Amino acid sequence: MISSIMVTSMDISVENIKGVGGAKAKLLKKVGIETVLDLVTYYPRTYNDYSTISVIVKLMPGTVCIKAKLTSIAGRYVRRGMHITEAIATDDSGSVKLVWFNQPYRATSMKRGEQYFFVGEYGLHGKNLSISSPESELISDMPINAARIVPIYRETKGLTSRLLRSLISQGLDCIDSLEIVPSTIQKEELLLPWKQAVKLMHFPNTMEDIEQARSRLAFEELFVLQVASLLNKNELKGQHSLSIAFDEKLAKKFVENLPFKLTDAQRRVVWQIYKDIEKDEPMNRILEGDVGSGKTVVALMAALMCIASGHQVVLMAPTEILARQHAETIYRLLEPIGMHVSVGLLIGAVAKNKKQILKEMIASGRTKLIIGTHALIQDDVTFSSLGLIIVDEQHRFGVEQRRTLQKKAGHMPHVLHMTATPIPRSLALTVYGELDVSILDAKPAGRAPITTTIVSPNSLQPMHLAIKKEIEKGRQCFWVCPLITESAVLAAKSAEKVALELKQSVFKSMRIGLLHGKMKSAEKEKIMHDFLDHKLDILVSTTVIEVGVDVPNASVMVIQNADRFGLSQLHQLRGRVGRGNQAGMCYLALSDSKAVSKRLRYLEQSNDGFKLAEYDLQLRGPGAIYGSSQHGALDLRVANLTDVVLISRARSSAKAFLDGNPDLSEYAHLNVAVLKARSVTNLN
Ligand code: ADP
Ligand code: MG
Repeated sequence: MISSIMVTSMDISVENIKGVGGAKAKLLKKVGIETVLDLVTYYPRTYNDYSTISVIVKLMPGTVCIKAKLTSIAGRYVRRGMHITEAIATDDSGSVKLVWFNQPYRATSMKRGEQYFFVGEYGLHGKNLSISSPESELISDMPINAARIVPIYRETKGLTSRLLRSLISQGLDCIDSLEIVPSTIQKEELLLPWKQAVKLMHFPNTMEDIEQARSRLAFEELFVLQVASLLNKNELKGQHSLSIAFDEKLAKKFVENLPFKLTDAQRRVVWQIYKDIEKDEPMNRILEGDVGSGKTVVALMAALMCIASGHQVVLMAPTEILARQHAETIYRLLEPIGMHVSVGLLIGAVAKNKKQILKEMIASGRTKLIIGTHALIQDDVTFSSLGLIIVDEQHRFGVEQRRTLQKKAGHMPHVLHMTATPIPRSLALTVYGELDVSILDAKPAGRAPITTTIVSPNSLQPMHLAIKKEIEKGRQCFWVCPLITESAVLAAKSAEKVALELKQSVFKSMRIGLLHGKMKSAEKEKIMHDFLDHKLDILVSTTVIEVGVDVPNASVMVIQNADRFGLSQLHQLRGRVGRGNQAGMCYLALSDSKAVSKRLRYLEQSNDGFKLAEYDLQLRGPGAIYGSSQHGALDLRVANLTDVVLISRARSSAKAFLDGNPDLSEYAHLNVAVLKARSVTNLN
């Protein structure tokens, strides 16, 4: 969080606030609040509008707010474990009954004769009209729980919105202003002062106040992000990398020998890359392309040129299965052009002594192409002349992992990131602000579409029959489960159990294999090969096959307990089929018939990875891009990455500002915030 590293009165611990002792501090820490700044930037989840005060005689059923005198109050036990507090509240127009259940403190915490605001549900409770369990607050000029638009927070046990309101309102009284956005820009953009905006987020006077405050604070977050990414970009510009000569003959020969014709999109992107890597300034490019759009061959063509000019290439893949597959693809595609490249496969399964030899080969420069998973690349590998790093499925890697690798090169290698979590270009420019973006916007021709169907557990038969038919036609099927083995706690299906079940079902005559991450590497490899060679009809698997796996003959994907997976994950899984020229089918099997969601319906209807990614972004926030599990993921509290207009405003402000102020040291708050953002988002 940006907040916890500020150096001013912001840094003071929440324990300095009245009413926050050890126990409350612990509760607050659970939701990430340690300092007063954390507290006041814990923004509401939503608001309730209690700004209208009703007159008692005119009360209508529903949530109401009244301003009245407490004329009587008394509590009693109606039976064991059931306490009731009844009170009468009176205003100029009349009286109303108030009732609380099992809140015996009410009778002592409020005083007869005092004026209060009460907010609660008015209606028929039992035989009488009353307000049920109202919240109360002594009347004042500045109420925080009633008679206004009231903030509602994310709550946890013991940490109620009511408590938070009280703490935040105290916090707001004692913090200094924290202006991150330089004052010139504040003026140009007509931004509210920071403190006023924060106050209005919690205690707005009108609904418009919330919008204005939100957009002010969102601008600030985006501005910081943009400054960070522009600085990242500038930093790269001055660096030196190896110039990779373009060999037209070789490129032509490679293309002519491919088993397919490159799409126009692939040609365009390859060309962009060749132009980039010819320079001695590092390329930092991201290749976005939906699942199955053919990114691998693009990466290979970049690698080819680099190797031909005598330098090394590292290809990072997120899984062992994918790393192996890449190694094989490369071998298959280079063989016909008579290129014998020494490929090193650096994965966990390689024996220790072999690994040592491999590392020596890499260090001496004899091994030109190194394919590996992140675990091993972090190891003590050194290079002789690393020209290019390709990161497949970029979103699966942490920033640190990429950076470690770059440091090993001793200079700045060219970097090509690839991702199948595509986002629209306008967004890409924000989140990957320091990267150049290439997009494969068309899939290879002749791809038949994938039909996606949601299946409820009590209507599996038609699915089984359709799959059987498909297998009898000579096609293959992936059957993905969320678990490896049965779990006593989780109700989801396990791969082991499904494999057994299928062997006793309509599929009993089929060849069924099982694949999961806990298997030995050699076993995994064998099963994967058997499936690829069509020695298996059905591959029951965990999500180890989620990314990248390419078996063109597989046309059916069943995803067991689909409701348990994220949207982009489901799209990735679905992308394992329909890669050849026959139509693909994807079945989303529900945990139970009620588990169907808007998300799954969306997936059923849309095959467009770009649209899905945008939808996912709206649902899940920026974590979807930077990797939510990653330590220090981007913490945007207010900004919405789909707000293109605000983003572009922030970007042009950031540009103009940096042009005039290349050095941020005079802007202490901005500097701290930008450093933090760079440590999270830097894809250099
Ligand atoms: P992704 O972009 O998801 O990584 P891949 O690179 O794995 O996709 O490509 C998917 C499949 O499409 C592979 O079988 C690949 O050989 C094939 N392919 C790639 N480019 C073309 C093309 N231009 N025409 C036909 N098939 C292609
Ligand atoms: Mg791929």
